[in-house]
Amino acid sequence: MSTYKILVTGVVQGVGFRPFIFKLADGYGLKGYVTNNSSGVEILINSSENVLHKFLSDIETRCPPLAHILSITHFEIDEIKFEIFAIEPSKVSAGITLVSPDTAICKDCLKEISDPSNRRYQYPFTNCTNCWPRYSIIKSMPYDRPTTTMSKFRMCKECQAEYDDPTDRRFHAQPNACPACGPMVYIGKYAGINAIRETAKIINDGGIVAVKGLGGYHLICDATQNIPVKTLRNLKNRPDKPLAVMCENSTIQKYVNNEPALKLFNSPQAPIVIMNAPDAPISPQANPMSDNIGFVSPYTPLHKILLDACDTDFLIATSGNKKDEPIAKNDREAEKALSGFTSHFLHHTRPIHNRLDDSLATIVDDTPYIMRRARGFAPYPVMLPSSVDGCVLAVGAHLKNTITIAKGKYAFVSQYIGDLDNPDTCDFFEETIEKMKTLYGLEPDRVACDAHPDYHSSKYAKETGLPIQKVQHHVAHMMACMAENGLRDDVLGVILDGTGLGTDGTIWGGEFLMMKDRKISRLLSFPKVMQPGLDGAAKNPGRMLVSYLHHFGLLNKYADTLTSKLFIPEKDIRLTVSMIDRNINCIPTTSAGRFFESLGAAISGITTNLFEAHSAMKFEGLAQSAEDISQDITDVKSDDFYKNLFSYAMEVTNNNDPKEIASRNLHDQIVKKIIFEVEKVQREMGITDIILSGGVFQNILLTQQLQKICDLTIYRHKAIPPNDSCISLGQAYYNTYSKIKNFSS
Ligand SMILES: [Zn+2]
Ligand SMILES: [Zn+2]
Repeated sequence: MSTYKILVTGVVQGVGFRPFIFKLADGYGLKGYVTNNSSGVEILINSSENVLHKFLSDIETRCPPLAHILSITHFEIDEIKFEIFAIEPSKVSAGITLVSPDTAICKDCLKEISDPSNRRYQYPFTNCTNCWPRYSIIKSMPYDRPTTTMSKFRMCKECQAEYDDPTDRRFHAQPNACPACGPMVYIGKYAGINAIRETAKIINDGGIVAVKGLGGYHLICDATQNIPVKTLRNLKNRPDKPLAVMCENSTIQKYVNNEPALKLFNSPQAPIVIMNAPDAPISPQANPMSDNIGFVSPYTPLHKILLDACDTDFLIATSGNKKDEPIAKNDREAEKALSGFTSHFLHHTRPIHNRLDDSLATIVDDTPYIMRRARGFAPYPVMLPSSVDGCVLAVGAHLKNTITIAKGKYAFVSQYIGDLDNPDTCDFFEETIEKMKTLYGLEPDRVACDAHPDYHSSKYAKETGLPIQKVQHHVAHMMACMAENGLRDDVLGVILDGTGLGTDGTIWGGEFLMMKDRKISRLLSFPKVMQPGLDGAAKNPGRMLVSYLHHFGLLNKYADTLTSKLFIPEKDIRLTVSMIDRNINCIPTTSAGRFFESLGAAISGITTNLFEAHSAMKFEGLAQSAEDISQDITDVKSDDFYKNLFSYAMEVTNNNDPKEIASRNLHDQIVKKIIFEVEKVQREMGITDIILSGGVFQNILLTQQLQKICDLTIYRHKAIPPNDSCISLGQAYYNTYSKIKNFSS
């Protein structure tokens, strides 16, 4: 019998790991102990080598659902004789302990809240070590009740007994609670289950209720009734943007047969999953643009009990915020921010420390593709391929902001923060930086930011007084995708994005960037045209279309089409042209985002974007609905390739040809062009690893087709979105390179 020390790292604290080890050791009759240390869990056992290996393999394969093991190491030490197997108190030493993201309610807890004889029957805060609140309630480490927002609730005798029993599912479950001792819900004069019934009654009657959930408030109404959904849509000032729908797994299965999507819907992360469910009896007001709807499961007991209490099987559950503002997190904030939407508030008494939006994902090639990363995923780190010296704070870009704090190989990417153009979101940005620093006990000694000096994030970086590293926007995109895929060098980044300041003072966006021998060069770009109205052009694809046509010398030919088919007034066309010709309020751009939006405007007739990338999304939607066959429009080798795409789009509109097939042809043509360029670089430079990043890769058809057709190795984002939410990760990763040549010749 020898003595072994086993070290486990990853998310292994606060997830029932020690009781799991206790039971496992007990099963093998092993003696020794298990304890938490600052990097994970430490186990000492007396064991034969044979049993040790079975024990190690069980740790990996049978670990608790919320545990995420990064490494297991073991070695033999001098013999110590143990009499029993024990769970020892935590050891404190220097290191980083990972925090578990919040997850959906587990099956065991679900059973309890549905069982009338259980003391937690219909109790909306039922949880255990295998499920739900974590990051949203943790203030600092170590993860103990006093460092969470549960500190003000004193456990009753029964809860305490569960908490103290190593064999119980609630052993050291910090948020452990029951109706006798835990948080409660209330609305007006009603509390507990009566409050939930009252809420259901309002929803059944066609009302809208603001419901405090896990990471913030939702605005909830019956998704099958047109009037409340339309009212909510109008109040949110989102005429065409899809609203998320909450329903049971058993319900969604009747309408969707996409296995990977359903699996993701039902996963512990429980993001909103975009699915096609044309037959679901949901108000068309939920998504007037297409049959695609974001579905989310009732991932907390509160949502589950509420959905059960309602007559409908489908609830709209959209984040409780005004347009472009962060999600509200407490009574006062919510009532102030949401009074325009409703006078009904279902509050609860458990404070939210870290506010989190719902994550949003779709499926590409049978694997999840994340569009917004927050609840369920944050603050789990991305492991960098190489280490950062010291500790770096990367503050991200301007839109879809996230921040990253990196130390060693850990890059802690924050939850989605939002667009930094209003004071509330800027406050949320600073709040998140401070909270992440406290949570992990990290003090950055450097800061990385975008090269754009006017971004709120860049200004913040300057104000920290720390040494600053500026990282060009699209380099950061490429780096983020490299970080996620463990790549260090020799890659070609196909970065198709909306806006980022280039090193030449113009706006870049559709860029082929190469990193070879640690030298970054810009090989190719999308067509460079004038962006009239500067940043405002993103809202005005009709005006950008005029700019492209003018650039390609096609304006005279299609001026009539612009006015008669796309209803762009002649005086607007003249004004745009004169702005461009006299270079007033214009900046040159190679944006791929503007390119797609303009083609989208030409085809779909959407000349004003009511929300970000509106015309481009319509363009993709049209292409998605066409059959999977396409015909060539032009030759990818032609110097007039891009011009020919615009001619084609204008001809289609002029002739009233079917938009769906035309959109599909245009998409396929662009895919072929990208592959043509990429293969040329491969032949000339010997580069075989291709990186896809940038907001345009939220276009699923484009991403999917590229991966399907291209023979080279294509890497796309995995856990982090391809849009500007990845910028902070890229900025942080850039800091791991001590020598890097940036666009030097
Ligand atoms: Zn549970
Ligand atoms: Zn209790």
